[in-house]
Amino acid sequence: MIREVDIDEISDGRRYRSQDMVKIGCADCSGCSECCRKVDDTIILDPYDIYELTRGLGAGFDELLTQGSIPAIVLGMADGLLLPHLNIDKEIGACRFLNKDGRCGIHNFRPGFCRLYPLGRIYENGGFSYFLQVYECPYPNKTKVKIRKWLGIENLPAYESFVLEWHDILAAARKETAAITSESETAKYMTAFLKRFYQDPYDPSQSFYDQFNRRKSSLDQ
Ligand code: SF4
Ligand code: SF4
Repeated sequence: MIREVDIDEISDGRRYRSQDMVKIGCADCSGCSECCRKVDDTIILDPYDIYELTRGLGAGFDELLTQGSIPAIVLGMADGLLLPHLNIDKEIGACRFLNKDGRCGIHNFRPGFCRLYPLGRIYENGGFSYFLQVYECPYPNKTKVKIRKWLGIENLPAYESFVLEWHDILAAARKETAAITSESETAKYMTAFLKRFYQDPYDPSQSFYDQFNRRKSSLDQ
């Protein structure tokens, strides 16, 4: 989700790279689950998240949207586009994947936003850096951890290239939808965008990046 904030007010003023150490270590959360309880509709999912959820839960996009008493994901408007986000369990007011023990039930394939927290990303000069949101995780006496380790994402260089490309694709899609004046054409555009990048099934046995690149290339045809 895009946020219009003064980064100096919410961070320590520094930009970080994945090889940098940052004070974010929270002893495996030590019984805290605060950040999973205030997610509301903020965990917007990208195609890599959907690929990971598909792999981890053995369910395609349509099943993630519809299966179970509380489906895994929901569609909602985010920054002018219709995008999937993680669902919440309204009864407990927390992410629907927070289990009874207050732990993440999908830890190994949790979305990118969950891996990142309490870091954020800032996009500048054609690239992006990480920054520390100093008022987020309240755990005291945090320890230093390398960002690469914190994220725990396989093939991080490929993932970071994807993150940047996806940011640009979203920006272009927002521009296009903003220029469309008819409601039905806007709906048509958003449906096609969802289908291309999310709904058409990803093969979990194949590389995500190859599949994403094919979908991205078809934008130019
Ligand atoms: S707020 Fe911090 S300590 Fe609590 S669950 Fe989130 S990351 Fe862990
Ligand atoms: S997916 Fe896991 S880490 Fe992310 S908000 Fe839900 S319970 Fe928390």
